[in-house]
Amino acid sequence: MYTCVLSATIQGLEAVPVKVEVDVSNGLPGFSMVGSLTSQVREAEDRVRTAIHNAEIAMPPKRVTVNLSPGDIQKNGTGFDLPIAAGMLEAMGYLPQDGLKGVLVSGEVGLDGGVRSVKGILAMVLKAKECGCRACIVPKANLKEARMIDNIPIAGISSLEELIKTVKSKTWTCEKLQVDQINQSQDEGPDFSDIRGQIPGKRAALLAASGFHNLLLIGPPGSGKTMIAGRIPGLLPKLTLEESLELTRIYSVAGMLPEEQPWILKRPFRSPHHTISPQALAGGGRIPKPGEITLAHRGVLFLDEFPEMSRTSLELLRQPLEDGKIWISRINGKCCFPTEILLVGAMNPCPCGYYPDRNRCSCSVTQVNRYLNKISQPLLDRLDICAQTSISTYGEFRTDVSETEWTTEKMRQKAQMAHQIQQERYKEETFRFNGEMSPEKISKYCTTRPDAEKLLKDAFIRLGLSGRGCNRILRVARTVADLEGSAEIKEEHMAEAIGYRSMDKQYWR
Ligand SMILES: [Zn+2]
Repeated sequence: MYTCVLSATIQGLEAVPVKVEVDVSNGLPGFSMVGSLTSQVREAEDRVRTAIHNAEIAMPPKRVTVNLSPGDIQKNGTGFDLPIAAGMLEAMGYLPQDGLKGVLVSGEVGLDGGVRSVKGILAMVLKAKECGCRACIVPKANLKEARMIDNIPIAGISSLEELIKTVKSKTWTCEKLQVDQINQSQDEGPDFSDIRGQIPGKRAALLAASGFHNLLLIGPPGSGKTMIAGRIPGLLPKLTLEESLELTRIYSVAGMLPEEQPWILKRPFRSPHHTISPQALAGGGRIPKPGEITLAHRGVLFLDEFPEMSRTSLELLRQPLEDGKIWISRINGKCCFPTEILLVGAMNPCPCGYYPDRNRCSCSVTQVNRYLNKISQPLLDRLDICAQTSISTYGEFRTDVSETEWTTEKMRQKAQMAHQIQQERYKEETFRFNGEMSPEKISKYCTTRPDAEKLLKDAFIRLGLSGRGCNRILRVARTVADLEGSAEIKEEHMAEAIGYRSMDKQYWR
């Protein structure tokens, strides 16, 4: 007796359909599995056989052969347990013949006959819908996640018994999840008003969030760099449903969705430790998994102690920052992960942290230079804004912050205005924010007044700028002008943008 059940395996962020063929025949009792399987998939044999036994479903002593097709794709994960079990149950007459035709099945089976969650369900349901499947059967624990995809009936099951009941009665339902409602109830995170003083740092954060510019914060320990970075997601626009789906899919494949609310509705904020390995940062492994840079997609990647990171990790950031994606090559092929991030780097200006305050800093010039030069010029060129933070004075520390205009709410209103202007201006373009503007587009969108142009020319000579450096200034000046609602870049906008550039020239000479 031969049966075939549809399932899927994950490659990168994509689900690839896999046919699970099960043949149950007379002959020497046994179990064999073929079809380019990882050891995780192979273990299905023991789980499925014991689960069927413990669910008190009588299994006659027969020869079982399982083939996962196509054979040239490597299968991984534990999601094949359930389709294998379903195929065996159908072949032995416990499920109606062809009852699973056009139904995608995925789930891990426990020894007790229970069905457990698997990674990447969202991508699989999406693929099922694309392929025109009539329904999906997923673990109950993954049901909420699967329901993000509408217009395809889905059943969530928690045991093999339920599988039999569901297939017999065809009780898959098509309920659309009300993600919009959940979106409104989310908490806002920490507030900028918690930070005393630090106006230049907050201003830089506002600019970074308004135009999606990568930001580098330099300052002594305790000057609020981490606090500023952590509050930037609160200034970014809310995720659209499409973006939310994209992020949920990434976290689903990584197996990192929260259990209660398995959706990503807020922009991510990732802050890996500086000792992070290049692989954990970029993604990879034998079966490629998204790294921190992809987990921060559409949100903020905060790297504290920036120069303390390994050279490989730092240099690895360059290409994804430029392209918005990262390619991972493995023996079994290549896969691509998205990396559209807002990078926020934070660093001390020298090993002790207090340079250029010579009263407190005792580092030699060589030490300072060696420390700073860990950040290479090409990487520095990808950080549009370089801002200095300083330790708050007593006066700043004791001020009443309720009066300040530097609260997240007020800053968000300004950022929102700038986002709207950019959305309108770039509606015909492939990029959406000033920070993502390619050099070819700069002359089209960054129109300057003559006095602003002169300022840039002077800075070009005075600071010894490169063409790339000039483009950085123009992009930031565009955002400063957008925050003012100005169509043209005026002198004062240019002056502020040049200020962020001369900041890094002050350190990196
Ligand atoms: Zn020092």
